Amino acid sequence: MKLLLVEDEKRMAQALAELLRLENYEVDVCRDGLSGLEAATGNLYDIVILDVMLPGIDGFELVKSLRKQNIRTPVLMLTAKSGLEDTVTGLDSGADDYLTKPFLTEELLARLRALIRRNIHSDDGTLSFGDIALETGVSSLICTATGQSVRLSEKEYRILEYLIANQGRILTREQLAVKIWGFDSDAEYNNVEVYLSFTRRKLAFIGAKTTIKALRGIGYELRYSDV
Ligand code: CA
Repeated sequence: MKLLLVEDEKRMAQALAELLRLENYEVDVCRDGLSGLEAATGNLYDIVILDVMLPGIDGFELVKSLRKQNIRTPVLMLTAKSGLEDTVTGLDSGADDYLTKPFLTEELLARLRALIRRNIHSDDGTLSFGDIALETGVSSLICTATGQSVRLSEKEYRILEYLIANQGRILTREQLAVKIWGFDSDAEYNNVEVYLSFTRRKLAFIGAKTTIKALRGIGYELRYSDV
């Protein structure tokens, strides 16, 4: 899980980043609104933790701009005041949840877990798109139409998880390389191609009508066609 933390107060940012890394999240930190917006626009993060009062543009503007670009990464807002007004403005701007400073770290972690679950998993713990579903505990891919299933390798699973979480969006080869392998290089681009072809073979194997469509020079997208 990759988190983006946008917080201008240095000590707060460092303490939070350290806490989150201890919980095995990958964390990038931005210290102002504009660099935060630029980072979040890359759409590589599973969650954005966003302070409201920031230099450059504030948290409300940042999340509004993300949503306008149809980037749906869950946003947890950190509001300084306990005022109801800030909370309402935050949620109206497109934030998914908020936490009032000061907060207990346990509460922050619980909110993050809830957002992650809400974003990519349905109530029964599966991730689904079209006629396919991923079973999280056992890393298997199921075709809900044919009832057939197949085991996935870790990379195949993460590729499908990322594609499903971003359904309706095109993901670039670079985004997949960074997200799944953690690097963005020619070698990783080859890995992306190789693992996408493994994953496509498994989709075909279980008789799924969901496919990974390649859009030349742009990227990849999940498609489902019932015909
Ligand atoms: Ca601040």
